[in-house]
Amino acid sequence: MSLADLYQEVILDHYRAPRNRGSLPGATVSLRGDNPLCGDELRLDIELEGENLKALAFEGHGCSISLASASMMTTLVKGQSRTRARELVGRFKTMLREGAEDEELGDAAALVGVSKFPVRVKCATLAWTTLEQALEESGAGADPPAGN
Ligand code: ZN
Repeated sequence: MSLADLYQEVILDHYRAPRNRGSLPGATVSLRGDNPLCGDELRLDIELEGENLKALAFEGHGCSISLASASMMTTLVKGQSRTRARELVGRFKTMLREGAEDEELGDAAALVGVSKFPVRVKCATLAWTTLEQALEESGAGADPPAGN
């Protein structure tokens, strides 16, 4: 099995059996995102506990890449801090821009091949951009004060 085949398997697995799909009754922030170029739509629920993303869930419809990516993203950032989650969003976008695999992204590293298809990049980044916006909206001043 080639690496490309393996990645294809990982993507299909997340598409067929999405993790964290549904809604969160205890969500502290909920945001919709869409990618009109492809018709992808999703709603992301996040339950914040202090600085940590205690739980995430998403609902939506769209292409396999957008849904697999949402499943991968929620799996990756669940339980992480706000700061770490933002860092991972940045790393994911960099990977799709530069086409260099980033193993810190876990299963989401399998989406590196999307960088070769510019029209699909927005499909892959939809969930991540929505997460970034949700964190900004819920941040009330964003980053915690330093040194206090
Ligand atoms: Zn799409």
